[in-house]
Amino acid sequence: MTSVTDTGIREVIVIGSGPAGYTAALYTARAELKPLVFGGAIFVGGALTTTTEVENFPGFPEGIDGPVLMENMRAQAERFGAEMVDDDIVEVDLTGDIKTVTDTAGNVHQAKAVIVATGSGYRKLDLPKEDELSGRGVSWCATCDGFFFRDRDRDIVVVGGGDTAMEEATFLTRFAKSVTVVHRRSTLRASQVMQNRAFSDDKISFAFDSEIAEIKEADGKLAGVVLRDVFTGQTRDLDVTGLFIAIGHEPRTELFKQQLELDDAGYLKVLSPSTRTNLRGVFAAGDVVDHTYRQAITAAASGCAAALDTERYLAALA
Ligand code: FAD
Repeated sequence: MTSVTDTGIREVIVIGSGPAGYTAALYTARAELKPLVFGGAIFVGGALTTTTEVENFPGFPEGIDGPVLMENMRAQAERFGAEMVDDDIVEVDLTGDIKTVTDTAGNVHQAKAVIVATGSGYRKLDLPKEDELSGRGVSWCATCDGFFFRDRDRDIVVVGGGDTAMEEATFLTRFAKSVTVVHRRSTLRASQVMQNRAFSDDKISFAFDSEIAEIKEADGKLAGVVLRDVFTGQTRDLDVTGLFIAIGHEPRTELFKQQLELDDAGYLKVLSPSTRTNLRGVFAAGDVVDHTYRQAITAAASGCAAALDTERYLAALA
């Protein structure tokens, strides 16, 4: 663990080292605000470090490895003077003109502005091999990974019963031979219009009252799943090469919920189109705010916006 001692009042502290945090760091560093960036103790680089190939981040015609993309973003921000600390922030007081954040060693850091870019986690099934096969057949994002199934002879399973699951299933029919939606209940939670769209698609079938009991692997890739009927306990094999998990997200807002306004789903609220939160000098960017797009490029874009909002806020204080 890296730790730093209090070095006086900073201009800006960034919490988060995903595309939003690193982009905010890059912009504030180039504005000579010397950002102090807390990137997390174990999740440095954010969600893209858990994937393999990223094919939809502009500027890389051949695609780029997720962890390499994040190392590049970090190096680019460091080149302009961003100071990185691979540690978690465990306590914050964002209410006053001077903001205080505390790291795991109990060191207190102060700044005039804070950019929150802590991201959001995909809910998992918590099954063996789920993490291991991420990017090798198991995915949480059809927009990100659907294209890898473009050979059109694959069978795919989507887990979930809400709008996101219906949207993912419908989107995946562009690439897949068949899509099976697995849902634990006998009815869907999705809006009627999304349900109708899915029900009328010939490629989509439904396994209601069912859950994934096992994820099967062969040669380091997904090789099928075992479905279990939640009432009878009966199991059956489903021969699929893609498993998309769409059972929700958990924005990382626990630390802030007493001070910053959250929406009903627990995401940080900002005064759109700005990145301003309800507290002066506190800005938020990336997936911790966004439950619509959730892409690296949109997170990076809002990290840029948060940096520019911060610059203007600090300039007005001077
Ligand atoms: P994150 O990347 O989640 O980063 C959040 C950061 O906050 C982390 O660094 C974490 O350590 C830090 N943090 C959290 N809490 C604290 C704390 N208390 N103190 C300090 N630090 C903290 N998008 C694409 O565009 N293309 C893809 O191909 C693609 N593939 C994906 C594959 C996978 C497996 C996953 C999971 C996601 C994928 N995404 C993809 C989505 C993309 O990764 C996210 O939209 C993006 O990373 C969000 O960026 P972010 O900066 O908001 O948050």
